[in-house]
Amino acid sequence: MTDAGAIPEEEAGALLTIDLGALRDNWRTIRDRSGAAECGAVVKADAYGTGIEAAVPALAKAGCRTFFVAHLSEARRARACAPDAVIYVLNGLAPGTAPAYRAQGLRPVLGSREEIAEWAAFAAQAGDAPPPALHVDTGMNRLGLSLDEGLAMAGALPFAPALLMSHFTSAEEEGAPATAAQIAAFARLRAAFPGVPASLANSSGSLLEPAPGLDLARPGYALYGGCPTPDRPNPMRPVVRLDATIIQTRDVPDGAVVGYNGRWTARGPRRLATICVGYADGYPRSASGTDDKRAAGIEAGVALVGGVRCPFAGTVSMDLIILDVTDAPAESARRGARAVLIGDGLDIDEVGRRAGTVGYEILTSLGRRYARRLVGA
Ligand SMILES: *Cc1c(COP(=O)(O)O)cnc(C)c1O
Repeated sequence: MTDAGAIPEEEAGALLTIDLGALRDNWRTIRDRSGAAECGAVVKADAYGTGIEAAVPALAKAGCRTFFVAHLSEARRARACAPDAVIYVLNGLAPGTAPAYRAQGLRPVLGSREEIAEWAAFAAQAGDAPPPALHVDTGMNRLGLSLDEGLAMAGALPFAPALLMSHFTSAEEEGAPATAAQIAAFARLRAAFPGVPASLANSSGSLLEPAPGLDLARPGYALYGGCPTPDRPNPMRPVVRLDATIIQTRDVPDGAVVGYNGRWTARGPRRLATICVGYADGYPRSASGTDDKRAAGIEAGVALVGGVRCPFAGTVSMDLIILDVTDAPAESARRGARAVLIGDGLDIDEVGRRAGTVGYEILTSLGRRYARRLVGA
């Protein structure tokens, strides 16, 4: 849970800056690209690491009225920030939790016959349960009724769904055949549920051309600055910035081995700087800088020191990362100076790629030991 300002900036190992103005701009960008469709916001996983209590009020202020979370616990937090919003819980109905949904006016996204039966029984008994969404799978094979089950349910549901939804598997891959197949399957489903609002697009799906043109967009990643169009320039503004403090520097001779298990070897005399962030802060250990990766030409982590990209030297430790700052300006590579781990052009997509993962994982792992500064509120 976010507790903004809980750790004083001068004590923290790193400063996480969250730009709520950029978040609102990004939401408006997707809204403007969504045509007649309403634009919602996905705020699961603590609003992709930015903090539900920060993101939800900012998005509501920009005009967002519909939010999606994964868990009931997240829905309660979103409800506390947005008393009048529509809130859907994507992961569906955990057994026995229907009364909790009703108590706070939360809507489950139902995706199986069992969930539908449990909700129907509860709604019949309660009388005024919130209207749920119906999730139909069109290719992910993860959550949702199968297409045949969904078509068979049309006209036979014991309640009127507020929303019909499905989820893209590959919308960020330009021209992916899977996307066209999902759009076609979803069109069949919509035809079977006339008058029920429909929602298909995540961030990348919201920027498809032509847009799937449905009733409600569900962007997440792009709101937080992630690139929804990996083959084209990122139209989104960065929301998250991470500055780490340099706590020590040292000079090492040619051949010195660095970090746990000596996985990185100095080629010539090098200057090193140690920063106060590690895998316990959610920075992936897989971004470690090792001799093996260098030999194989595999990208590893970098940080910006005085504007210069400085490679990680050795394995990412629990609380620390060592940088090779030899090429950075000396006045920037000193105790107390900041190294940029995210920001100034080093974006979350690149950080994810250099760790062998995706920017989504970088965002949703952002640590709890950072000082958090909210700007643009
Ligand atoms: C996470 C999620 C989204 C948002 O996806 P992004 O790629 O982050 O835009 C939308 N719909 C569902 C069902 C999701 O699980």
